[in-house]
Amino acid sequence: MTDPRQDNPQSHIERLLALDKAHAWHPYTSTIDRDPVYPVRAASGCEIELMDGRRLIDGMSSWWCAIHGYNHPLLNAAAIEQLGQMSHIMFGGLTHEPAVTLIQRLVQITPEPLQTVFLCDSGSVSVEVAMKMALQYQQAAGQPQRVRFMTIRSGYHGDTFDAMSVCDPVTGMHSLFERVLPKQVFAPAPTVRFGEPCNDADIADFSALISRHAEQLAAVILEPIVQGAGGMRFYSAHYLARVRALCDQFGVLLIADEIATGFGRSGRLFACEHAGISPDIMTLGKALTGGYLTAAATLATTQVATTISAGEPGVFMHGPTFMGNPLACAIANASIDLLLGQDWQGNIARIQTMLSTGLAPCRELPGVADVRVLGGIGVVEMIAPVPMREVQQRFVELGVWVRPFGRLVYLMPPYVISNEQLRQLCQATTTVVQAFGQRMAEGTA
Ligand SMILES: *Cc1c(COP(=O)(O)O)cnc(C)c1O
Repeated sequence: MTDPRQDNPQSHIERLLALDKAHAWHPYTSTIDRDPVYPVRAASGCEIELMDGRRLIDGMSSWWCAIHGYNHPLLNAAAIEQLGQMSHIMFGGLTHEPAVTLIQRLVQITPEPLQTVFLCDSGSVSVEVAMKMALQYQQAAGQPQRVRFMTIRSGYHGDTFDAMSVCDPVTGMHSLFERVLPKQVFAPAPTVRFGEPCNDADIADFSALISRHAEQLAAVILEPIVQGAGGMRFYSAHYLARVRALCDQFGVLLIADEIATGFGRSGRLFACEHAGISPDIMTLGKALTGGYLTAAATLATTQVATTISAGEPGVFMHGPTFMGNPLACAIANASIDLLLGQDWQGNIARIQTMLSTGLAPCRELPGVADVRVLGGIGVVEMIAPVPMREVQQRFVELGVWVRPFGRLVYLMPPYVISNEQLRQLCQATTTVVQAFGQRMAEGTA
């Protein structure tokens, strides 16, 4: 194989793309019918620089992660400093400053009852860990028959097996893996919107299901307030508070998956705060390292941790190779300091206002079902799935990076985005929605 860097720039890019095409398997893609991919040279602040020199304003934060933008001097410095000490060391029998500092910070900034932190490698793994904690807890608490999980539809919790089993059964992968997935209990997605009170009727189905299945249930798992990749829906804080109360009533643990919502995205540091509740177990990931490295955490209350530890076999049975990776922890610490050291709430409020104003014109466009904004998340829901490849290409031509899925065109920019960049993102979104919504409404998309 020849080294592609020896070519002139254009053939360099072509070779790179040919190698990618020959061997790379991109997320959720076919190796036969290939989606186009855009080669990136670098990224800095809120700009992605393609290898052909084009610059795109980032509206995605690389799937909710890069909250401080790319190539941030403080995060870079934290990484370089930690590299000089050690980039990795096992966490079995050893401990270190970056991990302990991170654990202490996470305990300080999350709801008070969460006192024990299990560090792990990625969001999906932290969900697996949370589910295993719930199972071991019930076993240790003398309820070994409690082996199922309950959730709300339109959720997303990751792509590993148990995480998949609690993703939305329609938009998730249930049909494909039906025969091997555990059968969980699904309540309808909450229809009561963020900011609205939750009446008895709004929680009636959830309430009936948890009551009917309580004796089999280890935990309820859900994304608090914002359902992300399963539908980008924002639901009532009061609904979440009532779920908490029902879990307590029936002796079912509550797992809050804050992987997407954590670190300010919804306008609160953690989305649970909107409802003033605390879960028994919480998962964190994505923005934990400011989008620099993969790392996640599963937090548990003292009650969960001590019950598991006092039961049989007296230990929690999980231990990924890279848990507590010092490099990731050092960057996570710098990222949290950076976030909390600024008026992040004022900043998210600014982004929310800009997104609300900027996306408002979409409301009137044909093919649009709904427009909604919460914190640093702006969503335009269409009446039909958008043609991804065409839409993606159009966004790139307009100088922005926006990657829709299904019927959803959404923006989730890094927090450091400027008002002018936000205006351009919203303008491009409006332009694209106008073009494709018209075709949708005419039935030709
Ligand atoms: C992305 C996500 C996950 C999975 O995290 P990975 O790091 O992709 O494994 C789980 N839960 C929620 C809410 C997510 O948004």
